[in-house]
Amino acid sequence: MAITREAALHQLLPLGYNLEVEAIREKEYPQLTDCVYLDHAGTTLYPKSGIEAFSADLCSNLYGNPHSPSAPSQLSTKRVENVRLRVLQYFNASPEDFDVVFCANATAAMKLVTEAFSALEGGWSYRYHADAHTSLVGIREIAKDHRYFRNDIEVEDWLQQPRTDSETETAVFAWPAQSNLTGRRCPWEWAQKLRTAHPNYYSLLDAAALVSTAPLDLSDVQSAPDFTVLSFYKIFGFPNLGALIVRRASGDILRGRKYFGGGTVDALTIGKNFWARKKEDPHSYLEDGTIPFHSIIALDSMMTAQERLYGSIHNISKHAFALGKLAYEQMSNLEHSNGRKVVHFYGGGNYDSSLSQGPTISFNLLKPDGSWVGYAEFEKLASVKKIHLRVGGMCNPGGMEAYIGIKPWEVEQNYAAGHVCSDDHDIMNGKPTGAIRISLGAMSTVDDILAFVNFLDEFYTDKVAVPLDFGTAIHGGPKAIVDSLIIYPIKSCGGFKIPSGVSWSIKPHGLSWDREWCLVHLGTGASLNQKAYNKMTTVRPSINLDTGMLTVSIHNRSDIKPLQIPLSAKPADLKNLHSSASRVCGDKITALTYNDPEIVDFFSTAVGVPCTLARFPAESTSRNYKPHLAKNGSAAGSNGRRNPNILLSNESPILVINTSSIDALNQHIASTNGKQAKPDVFRANIVLRNVAEEDEPYAEDTWKRLKIGSEHFDLLGPCRRCHMVCIDQDTAEKNEEPFVTLAKTRMIGGKVLFGQHATHVSNPNSGTRGEATIKVGDLVEVLTGTGDDSCSSSGASSEPEVEVSAPFPVAVAPTSPPPSPPVAKSGGFFQSLVSSRRWSRRVK
Ligand SMILES: *Cc1c(COP(=O)(O)O)cnc(C)c1O
Repeated sequence: MAITREAALHQLLPLGYNLEVEAIREKEYPQLTDCVYLDHAGTTLYPKSGIEAFSADLCSNLYGNPHSPSAPSQLSTKRVENVRLRVLQYFNASPEDFDVVFCANATAAMKLVTEAFSALEGGWSYRYHADAHTSLVGIREIAKDHRYFRNDIEVEDWLQQPRTDSETETAVFAWPAQSNLTGRRCPWEWAQKLRTAHPNYYSLLDAAALVSTAPLDLSDVQSAPDFTVLSFYKIFGFPNLGALIVRRASGDILRGRKYFGGGTVDALTIGKNFWARKKEDPHSYLEDGTIPFHSIIALDSMMTAQERLYGSIHNISKHAFALGKLAYEQMSNLEHSNGRKVVHFYGGGNYDSSLSQGPTISFNLLKPDGSWVGYAEFEKLASVKKIHLRVGGMCNPGGMEAYIGIKPWEVEQNYAAGHVCSDDHDIMNGKPTGAIRISLGAMSTVDDILAFVNFLDEFYTDKVAVPLDFGTAIHGGPKAIVDSLIIYPIKSCGGFKIPSGVSWSIKPHGLSWDREWCLVHLGTGASLNQKAYNKMTTVRPSINLDTGMLTVSIHNRSDIKPLQIPLSAKPADLKNLHSSASRVCGDKITALTYNDPEIVDFFSTAVGVPCTLARFPAESTSRNYKPHLAKNGSAAGSNGRRNPNILLSNESPILVINTSSIDALNQHIASTNGKQAKPDVFRANIVLRNVAEEDEPYAEDTWKRLKIGSEHFDLLGPCRRCHMVCIDQDTAEKNEEPFVTLAKTRMIGGKVLFGQHATHVSNPNSGTRGEATIKVGDLVEVLTGTGDDSCSSSGASSEPEVEVSAPFPVAVAPTSPPPSPPVAKSGGFFQSLVSSRRWSRRVK
């Protein structure tokens, strides 16, 4: 248990915590009901009254395009000019010394500056601080040469050095006023020092992260940066608008910008090469085209709302800083039972002064044995608990290198191994590939901090329940029966239960008709998934092999007539389909899309986004099984075994679960009065039920090969789970269970595992010829894998033969032994299971 609320308030109030925020939050931020929002550095949130005032403003005034003399147009111009002044006043900047140029966002403001510099005949040089947002890093591609400073000391040293002769040409030095990664605030005096030490340099200050919770004071024009960029949504939550604040004394250099558009020139001819750049204010020659006048007008309402609700940015600054300090201290206190710290912080952490630190904390979590908790896995659980934060590389490559210690070659290696920004590869080669970030804002409260710290305490200190110890004995003989068989003809949509008594055929890629279709977004062509579009559960396909039809209905919508789609893949039936590029789980595929308006309408209505059905012809299958079970992010097939083909299922041909394990899980859930998990949330194909008395829950974790009826299946490894299991397959509603209890009881090697991936293998000795089938009620034997094991995969003949080695736990030693995995207190059994499995398969 973290600090009590009383004790927390006792600490917060003297620092300027604003108790009124708790009431403001109720009234002004209905979007925050029931959740903990900790991503104010991503965007802070807009208050209801601000949006209502903006809406009333628009509805009671006639605003025209600002570029003309009409009254509505003049009204817009007037409002925009007032807001421009108001923005300057907000930053204590005198209109005589500064001008505001409205842009799309901070990044656009940076680009505008570099666009002007690019017009310089002799080129220009670029220097930047390594703790920079990618937007600042990208500028280097335009400059003639570039260099970065690894830290503040390097910058200070450079500023101390006397100017060298070569340093006469024009150059830009850019740095973040606050790191978007760590919240660390850089020294403010650099602009002035730069002006003295290196007068050929222009200063570009990225204030985007700073201004969200700190005042930016431009009252002293001598010490102010030449160019300051920021985004307003980070200060006010709305509108999506940014600004370049130009120090007029330094503004002339921008006038050389080549492009013009809209009202930025005074005189122009088309045929001849004559144009004259406007002479006056930077904004008049830098704002191309129609300015975002509605957004600028919105900014007025939002500024008024902030002032009314919080008084000033100074109050917000103290409030948020006090909360950041509390969060940092409480997180620092978290320990495992062996005394090890739970939170490893990156940078920052100096909560003595808001001059050097903002209310942003970046960190990763450590397990009791000192190994890392994956941030992607962490985010899944946080999101189920309705705690919203940011994880990953944070658009700050320099910070990642400096704080997390990911070397450039490791970034390349990880990329080559398949890791891209914001995917699930959160730990590679034992190191995190990113971090977790929380950031606070004006409307954060003490309860947000307590909820977050308690969440860490509950789930990430080793007080959590240790998974059951199953023992290691493996017995041969019949163990289970097939309780049900389910296919998902349309990926991510409802399942179709194979009627009992029906023998269903098994194909190399899984059960027949499983994931034969998917839904694709009409705009992007990407396949849709239930995680993002919960309503896909209401799409209910069924297969009728007698009529040769796929029938699709929408659950609880009897007003919508079910669709009938022919199963046959005859050219005549396929002629209305269009071949188009699509993506499934990051893989590029070619799918055949159905363009019939009736079909488009049907699915768009059901899911609530413009989409249509697409078919993934089995012949073109090129996606391979890629389990996420491997410890280091390398696929299980890396030992040379060719991975089985899959259609549109995410990872493997077949997913097997066991009702005994669901029962065990539900017992845990019952102890916290949570919502019981129904088997269908696991979206398995084969649901087994233990019949042998002695069999424990999760026995399937130790199984390696099954004989179901007369067919053989290899279990490939455990299935990694995400919060998709929380979507009720009947109602499409989200709950926190069963993921929360899974995370407590089935967190193994940093991953939440439930069920087993499987693939069918045909057995030439079994005597069966023709089609392989499976049916409800089939008996399940667990094979111990002795002499009868020379099986070949049922895939095409080009599939390599697979030899299955001695029964678990006797592993076939690889030529060089695999590194032994760190054995976590709560997951040692599974980790050794997973690693010995990986090495126990090989190609003949
Ligand atoms: C958010 C942020 C940016 C980018 O802002 P955009 O609005 O996306 O242009 C740049 N730098 C820092 C420090 C930021 O926090």
